[in-house]
Formats: sequence, C-alpha cells, structure tokens
Amino acid sequence: MSIQTGKIGVTTENIFPIIKKFLYSEHEIFLRELVSNAVDATQKLKALAQSGEFKGELGDLTIRVSIDKEKRTLTISDSGLGMTSEEIDKYINQIAFSSANDFLEKYKDKIENIIGHFGLGFYSSFMVSEKVEIHTKSWQDGAKAVKWSCDGSPDFTIEDIEKENRGTDIVLHLDKDSDEFTEESRVEGLLNRYCRFLPIPIGFGKEKEWKDNNMVETGKDKIINDSNPIWKRTPADLKEEDYTQFYSKLYPGQSEAMFNIHLNVDYPFNLTGVLYFPRLKNNFDIQRNKIQLYSNQVFVTDSVEGIVPEYMTLLHGVLDSPDIPLNVSRSYLQGDPNVKKISSHITKKVADKLKDIFKNDREQFEKKWDDLKLFVHYGMLSDEKFNERLQEVALYKNVDNKFFTFEEYKNLVKENQTDKHNKIVFLYTHNKDEQYSFIQTAKNRGYDVLVLNSQLDAHLIQNLETKNTDIRFARVDSETIDKLIEKDVVYESKLSKDEENDLIPVFKAHFTNNDYYIVDFHPMSEAELPITITQSEFMRRMKDMAELGGGMSFYGDLPSSYNLVVNANHPLVLQINNECKHVASDELSKIKAEIKDLDNQKEALEILQKDKKEEEIPQEEKDKLDEINTKSEALEKQKEEILTNFGKGQKIVKQLIDLALLANGMLKGEPLSQFVKRSVELIEK
Ligand code: ADP
Ligand code: MG
Repeated sequence: MSIQTGKIGVTTENIFPIIKKFLYSEHEIFLRELVSNAVDATQKLKALAQSGEFKGELGDLTIRVSIDKEKRTLTISDSGLGMTSEEIDKYINQIAFSSANDFLEKYKDKIENIIGHFGLGFYSSFMVSEKVEIHTKSWQDGAKAVKWSCDGSPDFTIEDIEKENRGTDIVLHLDKDSDEFTEESRVEGLLNRYCRFLPIPIGFGKEKEWKDNNMVETGKDKIINDSNPIWKRTPADLKEEDYTQFYSKLYPGQSEAMFNIHLNVDYPFNLTGVLYFPRLKNNFDIQRNKIQLYSNQVFVTDSVEGIVPEYMTLLHGVLDSPDIPLNVSRSYLQGDPNVKKISSHITKKVADKLKDIFKNDREQFEKKWDDLKLFVHYGMLSDEKFNERLQEVALYKNVDNKFFTFEEYKNLVKENQTDKHNKIVFLYTHNKDEQYSFIQTAKNRGYDVLVLNSQLDAHLIQNLETKNTDIRFARVDSETIDKLIEKDVVYESKLSKDEENDLIPVFKAHFTNNDYYIVDFHPMSEAELPITITQSEFMRRMKDMAELGGGMSFYGDLPSSYNLVVNANHPLVLQINNECKHVASDELSKIKAEIKDLDNQKEALEILQKDKKEEEIPQEEKDKLDEINTKSEALEKQKEEILTNFGKGQKIVKQLIDLALLANGMLKGEPLSQFVKRSVELIEK
C-alpha cells in the first residue's frame, strides 16, 4: 500500500476549532484519554492471550510516555493489540470522529455544563496538537505497520511504515499554545493525577541513581503508577497496615484515619473503593473534596458532590465505578438512578460500619467518638434515613467523660431531672472550665451535665427536642438552678416588692451599659449563690445558629442580653438591703411619701375622668394630671439617683457582680484587675 489520502467521516466540516474552543479549560485531559486508550489496547491483548487467540509472547507491556523537546512532540507508546489500516479506518476515521462530532452536536447548547470527561477520547488530542500521528502494528500474524496522520482538518493520510514491535505510538506535534506539555514536571503532574492507579505499568523517563557523585539514568523505566491499587484487591488478602499505607499515600501529611470501609459490589451496579473516616476537626472546609472518583482506575474527579450526600464528602478515600455517567452535569447526576443506588449503598455501608464497631467494640467507639461526632451529627441532621440508622449508636458525653446513648442517658436522668411539667431536662455545658460553677451547682443537686461543644450542637438539640417531646435541653447557665429544672418546692422571699424595687438601681449602678442586663429577684435557698448571671436559652441558641449561617442573621445582629438573678434570700443580699434602708432612710421615705401622695391624687383624677370622652374633660383637669406626672417622674428620678449613689458606694455589690461575671468567664482585662485589687482590699479589712 502506498500513501493514501481521504476525508474523515464527519458531517460538520471542521470540528477541531470547536473542540479547542469549548473544551479549552479541560484540555489537559487529552493525556488521560490517550493513556487510557493505551491501557485498553493492552488489556484487550491480554484477553486475547488468555482466550488462546493470541499465541505470541506478551513481553514487556509497559506503556511509555516520552517528550522530545526539540521536535516539540509528546509520544504515548503501548505494546497492546495495535491496529490494521482497516481498523484505523473503522475506529479512528469513522467511529471516533463521528462520536466526537455527535458529542459536540448533542451538547452544543450546554457545553459549559459538561464536565468534559470522556466522550471525546482520541480526538481530544487535537486540543493541544497541530498534527497527530498514529504509528501502529497489529498483533495479527503478517500485519503491516501503518502510519496515520492528520493536521486537524478533516483530511488525513495513511501510509505503510516500518515498525518492529507490535502496538501503537501516538505522536502529538504540540501546537504553539501547548508549550507546557513539553515540560517534564507538568506531564509528570498530569500522570500522577489521572493515571496513578491505572492497571498497566506506565513509564515516564528512567530511574536515576548516584554514580561517582552524579545522578545518572539507569536503564530501568520510572514507573509512575500503582497498577494494583488496594481497592481492587480482595479484603481478605489485606492487612490493616496496607490500608494505613494507602491512606498516607493518598493524603500525605494527613494524620492517620480512624477506620476504613472496603466497598465491593458487582450487582446491580459496579462499585469498588475504600472509604476512610478522618479525624474531623471543627473546620469543615479543609476536610472536603478529598474523595477521589475513578472509573475503571482512571481518575475522574476529586469533587464528588452530587454523587454522594453532602455529609459523605467529609470522608476520604477512593470510589471506583464505571456505572456513574461522567460526561453530564452535576444536576443530571443527582437524578440518575445508578447514582442514587450507589449513593444509598454507600450511606448504608457507612452506617453499618459505625454500628458494627459500636456493637463489637464499644470502648474503641467511645475513644474515637470525639473525632467522629461531627460527621455523624452532620449526617443525622441532613439525612433522615441516616438519622434513624444511627439513633442507637450516637453518643452523648457528660462532664465526667462518660458516654451514653440517647436512651441510656434518658434513663439515667429521668428520675432526678424530671421537672414539674413532666419534661426530662438534659442539662449541658459548652465549656467545662468557663461554666465550672454552674456545673458544680447542678452536681450538688445530684444532676448530671452533658458536654455539647461542637458547632452543630445547636441544630442537634433542636432536632432531638422535636423528635422527643418528653425531653428538653437547658444549658447550665441559662437559668438559676431552681428554674433550670422546676420542681414543686417553693421558697418564700425575705424581701418585699418595695425592697426589691429599691435594690434594682443599687445593683444596676455598677453597669456602664445597663441596657442589656435585667435585674431580677428570685427567692432561693440561702445556700445558693447570691448572684447568678444567666442568658436566655432561646436567644443564645438563635445567635449560635445565626453564627453558623442558616437564615437567623436577625438574631446574630442583636446585642447579647443577660439576666442578673439575685437570690432574694441570701444573707449578703439581705445585708445590703438593710444598709440601704438605713443609710438613705430619711430622704427616701420623704420622697416615697410624696410619690404616694401624687399617686393618690392621680388615681382620684382618673376615677373622675373614667367614663368621660376626651372632649368632655375640662382643660384644668388635664393640666393638673400632666403636672402630677411631671412631678412624679422627677421624684422617681431623684429616688433612683439616691439609690444609684448608694449602690456605687457599695464595694460588696460590685464584688458580688464581678464574682458572677467571673463564674461566666465574662470578667476580663481592666475590670478583672480591678476586681483582684478590690478583693485584696476587702480581705485586708
Ligand atoms: P473509546 O476509547 O471510547 O473507544 P476513543 O476515541 O478513545 O474512544 O478511541 C477510539 C478507538 O480507537 C478505540 O475504541 C480503539 O479501537 C482505537 N484506539 C485508540 N487508541 C488505540 C491504541 N492505543 N491501540 C489500539 N487501538 C486504539
Ligand atoms: Mg478512549
């Protein structure tokens, strides 16, 4: 056969500019396409040898990738089954070309939705080349070697050549925009990304060694891939350390995973892989996008959103399935029945694994819980099925580092922590050190306190309360102990309403911005603290959730508000009350008497006006009422001033407030050092 020329069977006159233009951002994938074609050709030959059709020597099947910087060529060589000129005509001129064309026709309008993986195959080489040559010799007896060449127009030439070895060399003459692919490091990077686990050895350059103080090339190929990766092997043949090793190869520098799941399904879909549970820290984002997706050991992507549920993207590892359609958009993927099946299979496997460990080795499970809970909670909150599956193994830890399942915990606290409304109250803290005194107070009552300190806990609590209407969560600092779990015991207050009113300005005197503190008196046991600062459970939860995002930003913008709860029966409070009455008594009783008098006058006037319409009231009476109100306000102000002044002079009040702030971890900086100084002074007295 001499040189032949012909036209490639395409309908659109010139598809190469389209290929280049639309797939530009993905143009590096040409290398994966060509190397995987070489792998296919080699595997087909192996299959022929196995069936006995091919009787020759298989020999060295290494696929070699090489660069010639001078000639600006990149060559992919295999010793696979090769092609005859008829096969080139059929598979390259007609089928491959028209399938590339079909592909473009089909996705013309939504080309940007296409991941761009697969579908273009061999012709993706034109994204980076001005000319492509195929040098090939078929495995069949007496086959003649041929060279096909094409410069990116629909015209090609095909001619006989001399080629000693069976197999195919694809020679790319790189175009002027593709300089990068003459760089060794760039090509090696691509091979590592896309071809790292292909099933046939791939050589790129030669191994080097030290000889006479120089690095010199040896005759041995430098193999860039692991052709028998762990997920393709039988679990029974593998040891735990094989999994550990593989993990550190996939994620160098990452701390060791906790455990793994080997996936292996052939029916009704094909899925293999190994998933790892990483130790999750509180920052989600650096954890994500670690799962790598392969199709028959060819790397496809490392962002698996849409293929597995969102929370599963926190896991690490490898998934390999030829049944996931790859050349479609992510939104399409979500609706694909195979993807759905695969996704629910993975979810179930993951849940089963967790349940297994819980059942067989609870101690280990508890040890790992802190690193595991973020994943489990995230899954439980976002996937109802997963929630149901993990109900019985999700753990709750108390301040003494003991672990309980939900049911176990409920049974533990049921008797002691049921309030008068018949709700079982789960007490919790988000910080054992900061809330030490609150926890201690609860413990003194024989209550148990959970530690809930991850960023998802606010959502988790909401979820648990909705599902279990017989329980309620309360953070230890959200109320005083009597109100946290309300029992039927009632304490009488030793302060009258009037005394309480007088004491409000006395306590408020010590806040520079008293807007956000509400002073409140509760009759409690004498043994309880004189002052406690609490923060409404509802407001705090809303603010916590706002911080995480999720449409509560209104609450996030509000200032924090606190309750300053004063124990109306505490001896120190009663002492302050006595002093207050004593010190300012004359002046105060005068003002109070006047206010009382004004109140009486006002009441009398109001009775007079009760059934009258606005216009029937004489102007004189209206003026009188205004006058009374103004006077009364002025007196109230005066009274408050006296009490505030008294309060300001009370070191003990300041001291008690600071102690309460301190117990909440809210006393810092300057006020803290003043507190220390004042404490010393009070001791010296
Ligand atoms: P696909 O790989 O999906 O079949 P491609 O466009 O990548 O599509 O390749 C088209 C066809 O060209 C292949 O099916 C194969 O028959 C042939 N081919 C490509 N590369 C080689 C090769 N290195 N050795 C033998 N045949 C090849
Ligand atoms: Mg291909």
